[in-house]
Amino acid sequence: MGDVVKGRVELSTWPTPVERMPRLAARLGLREHDLWIKRDDLIGLGGGGNKVRKLEWFVGAALAEGADTLVTTGAAQSNHARLTAAAGARLGLDVVLVFPGTPEGTADGSGNLVLDSLFAARVHWAGDAEPSTLGDVAGEVCERLRRDGARPYLIPFGGSSPLGAHGYTEGGEELRAQLPDVDHVVVALGSGGTMAGLVAALGQERVLGVHCGAVPEPAATVADLAGALTGRSVDPGSLRVRTDQVGAGYGVLHEPVLEAMRTVAETEGIALDPVYTGRAMAGLVAAVRDGDIGPGQRTVFLHTGGLPGLFGHTDTVRRTVSALQSWKPA
Ligand SMILES: *Cc1c(COP(=O)(O)O)cnc(C)c1O
Repeated sequence: MGDVVKGRVELSTWPTPVERMPRLAARLGLREHDLWIKRDDLIGLGGGGNKVRKLEWFVGAALAEGADTLVTTGAAQSNHARLTAAAGARLGLDVVLVFPGTPEGTADGSGNLVLDSLFAARVHWAGDAEPSTLGDVAGEVCERLRRDGARPYLIPFGGSSPLGAHGYTEGGEELRAQLPDVDHVVVALGSGGTMAGLVAALGQERVLGVHCGAVPEPAATVADLAGALTGRSVDPGSLRVRTDQVGAGYGVLHEPVLEAMRTVAETEGIALDPVYTGRAMAGLVAAVRDGDIGPGQRTVFLHTGGLPGLFGHTDTVRRTVSALQSWKPA
């Protein structure tokens, strides 16, 4: 690990496992062998998750340029930022994370922030910068670092550029080698790179993205990235994107998501997060309910990680803990 091979730095051990989810399949009215999960949550760096596949490529490019500092942006509970911090620690690079808000204003000062701090990242709080201007703030941070003699490398929001998305073209090929006859791959759609890479590897008819409310135009975002990866134009209208799980917005708990999180936890012993994987699973449940996914079709849920974010999501923590069942021997 840590060696650069063809532009990419290995940050974990591949492939990630695929497992069946028979009890969840039965609960949803599918057959025992229909439902599978690809465990990218078990990626062995920094708590795991999909961003590691992208970061292997960014870190490779950063080292090739002689960079000594990784800079990226996101929400305070960004899994991508946490994994950038871990990748920096693994390779001996400094990391600066650019977050909106202020440390005092971050009520949920736990979850990913705990890990960012343990991985020794520095955080630049951008105050009331809009998400759309965070990239500009990060550009200024890079300028300042350069003036101080550092060599920064800027990783885009969510790691979603064609370079990062390439990590999921490989992830999709890895999945196809494990399960050749996949009918549906269900994935959370955040900044879009993960779905775009899967579309490039598996074709748009097999990939169902569940919009999490992180970008204004999810289908167009994925289509642009998939087009850049494949070298042919991709029609946004040809992509399978569900937009029914956003609820009141990206950071807000959506009731069907909590229900999906409970269902997967109690049938399979697998934890999902309220922002991404819980939404993706609620989308899968809805797709089974409306017949887009049916019995006899092989369906893979891509677990993209995100568990630390669960502990930084105040509302979810409160709602789940208040429903805790107590028990005493008679
Ligand atoms: C970022 C993220 C996603 C979405 O991936 P994108 O490539 O940004 O669309 C899904 N799940 C988790 C846990 C994430 O952190």
